[in-house]
Amino acid sequence: HGRRESIGPDDVHPNLIGGAWVEGTDVNTNVNPSDTSDVVGRYALADAVQAREAFAAARAAASGWAEASPLVRFEILDNAGSEIIRRKDELGDLLAREEGKTLPEAVGEVVRAAHILKFHAGQALRPAGQLLDSIRPGVEVAVTREPVGVVSIITPWNFPIAIPAWKIAPALAYGNTVVFKPAELVPGSAWELVHILHGAGLPDGVLNLVMGRGRDIGDILTSSADAVSFTGSVQTGERVLASAQGSRARVQLEMGGKNPLVVLDDADLGIAVECALQGAYGSTGQRCTASSRFVVTAGIHDLFVERLTERMLALQVGDARATGTQMGPVVDSSQLAQDERYVGIARDESGTVIGGRRLERPTDGFYLEPALVVGTRPEDTINRDEVFGPVASVVQVASYDEALAVANGTEFGLTAGIVTTSLAAATDFRRRSTAGMVMVNVPTAGVDFHVPFGGRQGSSYGPREQGEQAREFFTTV
Ligand code: ADP
Repeated sequence: HGRRESIGPDDVHPNLIGGAWVEGTDVNTNVNPSDTSDVVGRYALADAVQAREAFAAARAAASGWAEASPLVRFEILDNAGSEIIRRKDELGDLLAREEGKTLPEAVGEVVRAAHILKFHAGQALRPAGQLLDSIRPGVEVAVTREPVGVVSIITPWNFPIAIPAWKIAPALAYGNTVVFKPAELVPGSAWELVHILHGAGLPDGVLNLVMGRGRDIGDILTSSADAVSFTGSVQTGERVLASAQGSRARVQLEMGGKNPLVVLDDADLGIAVECALQGAYGSTGQRCTASSRFVVTAGIHDLFVERLTERMLALQVGDARATGTQMGPVVDSSQLAQDERYVGIARDESGTVIGGRRLERPTDGFYLEPALVVGTRPEDTINRDEVFGPVASVVQVASYDEALAVANGTEFGLTAGIVTTSLAAATDFRRRSTAGMVMVNVPTAGVDFHVPFGGRQGSSYGPREQGEQAREFFTTV
């Protein structure tokens, strides 16, 4: 059944359909955003016929996997997690090379993916049913949780291994079969994850990989499954929702954010600057949980901007895999163009942009200086649209009440943070923020793998991901 041991640097990485590694109908050549002359790998693109074959295979495998012992599911996920940890440096290097995160960030993401697999391995062993006494004498009622069936998993490029892991692991742990389509920009990490899970002993057809383009096979992914779990842009998410609901599939969407970090006069300045720096420029700002608006009260505003600017301009921007690099490149040319467009809009609307220039490096990559836009108004474009790059803005406010109103004044609602030494302000913010996840004195972008993840308003749709709550989406009562 084609369990390949390894694949050469010039081979085309195949798709996995029904337990067989199969060639595609076209090839996706993946390049390194730090150095576009470096070809990371070649990946088979699946077409519509192959996508349908993947669903047929997942459908055929569904009842066998639903009846598999929880011990089997536990062992496969746990062993795959161990294998990922064993290979973390190699997989981290691949991730940094194809996506552009720095090496420490990339290795961190790989380890996180392994931990997610292990968490859900444990979840496979936790009984989730209930036995109720009936109102009828001598009768008991069993409430059981069963797999949903065949699940489509569609993922974006910014977390090439962690996001696939946090959807695939609970889907498999709770007995579903999967058709997985990673983003075209980062097939390499996804391929390794599938290869490792397959190698850990998944039965044929339980996990299928189709590395096709969204425009070619997206509609098949969203109209052929019992459940669709998607992370990506708002625009695509809306399309996914319409298509999946047309076939009555359950849907889970994680989309954008426009996450505020509130800094109050009584804040510890060091903590505020550190939260801002990590939240806005970590992973080159390419995180849906990134801090992109700093909402700062007047008494600390100037000092905060001064210290943050100093630290931001000192960040070493360079090749993701070079020693000493603190911020890698932007993922590709179209994302770079989008970031530069927003820098231009911010300059036109608000006047002062610090940083934000295109940077030359010895290699041909997508390097952008981190940017801070100061003196903005809440209604400016830079405070409304998600940029998805190393570009953040500052809004000065007069009071905590105004800060709360500005922070909540967004159509999104994924994360929000506050830096303060006032317990009253922190508690009030936690209660009245309209974001799904609220951080106090920690960056908006650090989210534990064993707790539920998700937003409110325009950021998310459907049940929460991750943690124990992932069971809601991936089982039916
Ligand atoms: P991002 O640019 O953050 O990756 P996108 O929303 O463009 O966000 O893409 C997220 C995922 O959705 C990718 O895997 C992409 O291929 C996929 N996709 C694109 N178009 C469609 C579609 N019409 N239906 C389903 N998935 C799609």
